[in-house]
Amino acid sequence: MGSIQLKNVSKAFAEHKVIPGIDLEINNGEFVVFVGPSGCGKSTLLRLIAGLEDTSGGKIFIDGKDATDTKPSERGLAMVFQSYALYPHMSVRSNIGFPLKMAGVDKAEIDRKVTDAARILNLTDYLDRKPRQLSGGQRQRVAIGRAIVRSPSCFLFDEPLSNLDAALRVNMRLEITELHQKLGATSIYVTHDQVEAMTMADKIVVLNKGNIEQVGSPMQLYHHPANLFVAGFIGSPK
Ligand code: ADP
Ligand code: MG
Repeated sequence: MGSIQLKNVSKAFAEHKVIPGIDLEINNGEFVVFVGPSGCGKSTLLRLIAGLEDTSGGKIFIDGKDATDTKPSERGLAMVFQSYALYPHMSVRSNIGFPLKMAGVDKAEIDRKVTDAARILNLTDYLDRKPRQLSGGQRQRVAIGRAIVRSPSCFLFDEPLSNLDAALRVNMRLEITELHQKLGATSIYVTHDQVEAMTMADKIVVLNKGNIEQVGSPMQLYHHPANLFVAGFIGSPK
């Protein structure tokens, strides 16, 4: 579970063709990073996969099945938003359990799943706190918890660390890759940060103006960049 295939997927906003047509294969259990400069279409591509945007053309397959017209909630994917997307008036417990409550899951099962997620994320002692009583890293873990409770086959992360400070970012990178391994799910992680891409990815997808410049492991991209864009982008950390 968790493989994704894009076949000539395109997206235009009115006259603006943001993604001309992308083919991509993501295997079950891979940690895939979409990297590229601001405005190149990373978030749009992730939102197309999540079903939060309709495609203008092409097909999306999830676990071999055509999911192009499937509702977001039925794709088996979970999007991890930045920690500021937490509900400030709700406890950690309620924030993590919220997607299950919305889905009509009964209270005993919500409690069980929230307890499990909290254990995995080291949040057990914080379940009754409000988001404002947590550190930035803890808040980010709550945002991840909200994705975990639905047991998705694939996690979609859109720059989840961009509003954390530098030291915390390094920690959270490790935590997210460890979590990915622990859960055995597929992860797609969007960032404009080359260092995040190089340190986290099994497979990097370098995007530029809505096109894929290269797909490869961090080492392949570093040692055998397909062109000057990739060489410049991977070779020049901020
Ligand atoms: P990235 O995440 O790589 O920074 P985005 O996917 O957010 O890039 O945006 C890619 C391009 O699509 C940008 O030019 C942006 O202005 C445009 N775009 C994104 N969303 C919309 C939208 N809802 N309506 C119109 N244009 C959009
Ligand atoms: Mg973006």
